[in-house]
Amino acid sequence: MKMKNTPFLSKSKYVDGLKCLKLLWYEYNRREEIPETDDGTTALFEQGKAVGKLAHKLFPGGILLERDAEPEKQAEKSLKAASLGKPLFEAGFIFNRLYALADILLPVSGGVWDLIEVKSATSVKEVYCRDAAFQKHVYEGAGLRIRKCYIMYVNNQYVRQGDIDPERLLTKEDITRQVDAIIPSVEANAQQMLQAIREHTCPDIKIGQHCNSPYPCPLESVCRDFLPRDGNVLCLVSPGKRPYELIEKGIYSISDIPGDGGLNEKQKIQVECHKTGQPHINKGGIKQFLNTLKYPLYFLDFETIAPAIPAYDNSRPYETIPFQYSLHIVRKEGMEPEHHSYLAPGNKDPRPEILKRLKQLLGNSGSVIAYNAAFEKTAMRKAVEIYTEYREWLKLIEERVIDLLTPFRSFLYYHPCQEGSASIKNVLPAMTNSGYSYMEIAEGGTASIEYSRITFGEDVPEEERQRILSALEKYCALDTKGMIEIVDELRKLCR
Ligand code: SF4
Repeated sequence: MKMKNTPFLSKSKYVDGLKCLKLLWYEYNRREEIPETDDGTTALFEQGKAVGKLAHKLFPGGILLERDAEPEKQAEKSLKAASLGKPLFEAGFIFNRLYALADILLPVSGGVWDLIEVKSATSVKEVYCRDAAFQKHVYEGAGLRIRKCYIMYVNNQYVRQGDIDPERLLTKEDITRQVDAIIPSVEANAQQMLQAIREHTCPDIKIGQHCNSPYPCPLESVCRDFLPRDGNVLCLVSPGKRPYELIEKGIYSISDIPGDGGLNEKQKIQVECHKTGQPHINKGGIKQFLNTLKYPLYFLDFETIAPAIPAYDNSRPYETIPFQYSLHIVRKEGMEPEHHSYLAPGNKDPRPEILKRLKQLLGNSGSVIAYNAAFEKTAMRKAVEIYTEYREWLKLIEERVIDLLTPFRSFLYYHPCQEGSASIKNVLPAMTNSGYSYMEIAEGGTASIEYSRITFGEDVPEEERQRILSALEKYCALDTKGMIEIVDELRKLCR
C-alpha cells in the first residue's frame, strides 16, 4: 500500500537519505521514535544559525524570506521576491516534490543567480557539494538559472580585533565543478528516496561504519537496541569494521568472541576482562608510571569554549579558550589536598587572569597532572601566543606535565565497566565509588554549552545563572578530585 500524498523531500532529508534510507524512512513514518536532538547538536545548529546571520551582512539590501511551514507558500513568496533582483536569503523552490531553501541566492544579471551555502565549518566537505547539487538541481528544475555554486565557511585564520568583521571571518570557495559532476545523480537518488518513504515497511539496513559518517546518526540507539547494553562488541577499542563482522556472525557480546578472533592486544585484554568480570592490571607498568610523579602533585583541569565566532579579541574561530580551572594540590604523600578554582565572569578575555593565577599556584617543582594533558597544554600554548610574557614560564611547566590518561590508554589498567573507554568519565566510576551520574553538568561539552549560554546568551535569569555557575564549579572540581582518587587507587594496586 502507498501513502496517498507524496511528501516533499527537503535538502536536509535528502542528505539524510544519502546517508541511510532507513533513517529517512523513520523521518517520515516514525518521526516520534527518533530520539530528541541532544544539547551538543542543538548548540552546533544554533552556532550555524549565528554564522548564517553574519553572512547576510555581506549582502546589504538582501531580502530574508521568513520560513513558511508550507513549501508551496514559501515558493510563491520566493518567486515574487526573485523578480526584485536582490540577494535572497532562504528562498525556497519546488521541483518534482523536491524542496530546496538556499542560504543565499545572489543575482548576477539577466535572471541568472549564484548559489551560496553557508557553513560553520572551516573547510569544504564532500557532503556540502552533495547538498549544493540538490539545491541547484531543484532551482534549475523550477526555472532559475544558476551560474555558480559556492560554499561560504569560517576562515580559521581570522583574528578578532574589536567588532566581528564578517568580510574577514567568512570566506567562500567555488564548488561549481564538483556540483556539476554530482548533479546527474540527484534526480534518481531523490526519486529512490521518495519511493522508500512511501513504502509501509522500513528498509532493512544493518548497522555499520556508515552510521557514523559523515555525521553520527540520531537513530543509533534504536538500531542498536538488539545489542546487550553492557559489553557489546561495539565497545571494542580501535574497532574499524570488526564489530560489524562479529554482529553479522551473531556475536553481539565481547565476552562471546571466540579464541583471539583476529583481535589486537588491547582488544584481547578487553575480551578477557569482559569474560571474567575482573580488571586487567599491569603492576610493573603502573609502578613505572607512578614513579614519574613528583610531589607536590598539582591536579589540573580546564573547562573551555571554542566558539566559531570568536568571543574575545586576539582569538581565532574555534580556538580553545579556557574559562575555568580546578586545581587540587597534594603537597606531600598522605596530606589533605588543597583546592583552588577560578570561573571567569565572561565579560572579558579569561586567559590573562587564568595564566596569572596558575603562575602563582603551580610553584617551581612537582608534577602537574592532567587527564588527557594535550588538551590543557594546547589551551595554555595558544594563550601564551598572545600573552607572551608567560611563554618562558609555560616551557618550564610543560616539562612537569604528566598525563594521567597514559596508563589507561595503554591498557596498563582496564576494567570491563570502562566499556572500552579510557575517558575519566568511565575510569573514575570503574575504579572508585565516585562518578558523574548524579551531577547536573557531567561532561565537558555540556559545561561549554552552559557557560556560553549563561555568558553570551540573552535573557538568562540571575537565579539560573547562579545555579549553572555552581554546577560548573562542582563538575570541574570533581575532575581534579577524581584524578587524586585514581592515583590513590593505582597506588593501592601496586602495594
Ligand atoms: S543507525 Fe545506521 S542503520 Fe540505523 S538508521 Fe542510522 S545509519 Fe541507518
